[in-house]
Amino acid sequence: MIEITDFSFQYREGGEPTVRDINLSIPAGTFVGITGPAGSGKSTLTYAMNGIVPHCYPGDFYGSVLVDGLDTCETALTDLSRAVGSVCQDVDSQFVTPVVEDEVLYGMENFGVPRDEMETRLERALADMGIADLRERTIASLSGGQKQKVAIASVLAMEPKVLVLDEPTAELDPASSQSVFDLLVSYARTHGTTVVVVEQKIALLSRYADMLVVVEGGRVRFADEPRRVLAHADELLEIGVNCPRSTTLVNRLADRGVCERVAVRTVSEACDALEQVVA
Ligand code: ADP
Ligand code: MG
Repeated sequence: MIEITDFSFQYREGGEPTVRDINLSIPAGTFVGITGPAGSGKSTLTYAMNGIVPHCYPGDFYGSVLVDGLDTCETALTDLSRAVGSVCQDVDSQFVTPVVEDEVLYGMENFGVPRDEMETRLERALADMGIADLRERTIASLSGGQKQKVAIASVLAMEPKVLVLDEPTAELDPASSQSVFDLLVSYARTHGTTVVVVEQKIALLSRYADMLVVVEGGRVRFADEPRRVLAHADELLEIGVNCPRSTTLVNRLADRGVCERVAVRTVSEACDALEQVVA
């Protein structure tokens, strides 16, 4: 669904490429998590996927980025945005109407969704994000987590094949963050949507993602199943990426010879690893 080949990009104002030598192949239906230190190029990488780079930010673009077979350099942004839905980092700046249902309808109107389909899609998108009851609320009265769900629902109503989200839980508490991920994953699995999400909370990402991409200094340092990436705990720490505490705990116990060295992603996997010790 997304094929990135030898891709480098340098913003016009930048002195050197922000991302470089990127090769990534993302099959349809994959849930991809991107993490890495601040300024490492995560957002720029998502801009390459939704066409903001090179269409909105001029610069030097090397290599190729194909999304659903479309070359992002040669395809107009309006055509690309039919394939790729994006939720930007600052959702408040994304909202264009004051009321939830209007917000979801607005996108569909812009996309030329037939009128008789709009109501069905509106109801479905709100239900998919668990916010059917918020339909008539003003966006300003919602919590951060609710706003995030509205932003996602208004993109889902367009039924994109790829959904790109940049730090959707940055402002949310742990419970709301998990709720957003639960809904996203369940939606993606049901519809076969490819999801790319930039996220600092690596424990959350590792639990849900099929592929974890760690970006450092504009390059892809790791791109693999979360478990395989977390096996490089020491290298991750060196570049400022903290492993989940469950991973760190089992690693430290393994260092002391208490248990075997296995890369665990979650508390329940850590429990399994430790149960073998006391068994
Ligand atoms: P991250 O999302 O990992 O924090 P970004 O992709 O936002 O990283 O930024 C990586 C680098 O690219 C930063 O040094 C930033 O200054 C630069 N950059 C980001 N956006 C732009 C832009 N629109 N114009 C020029 N430089 C930019
Ligand atoms: Mg960013």
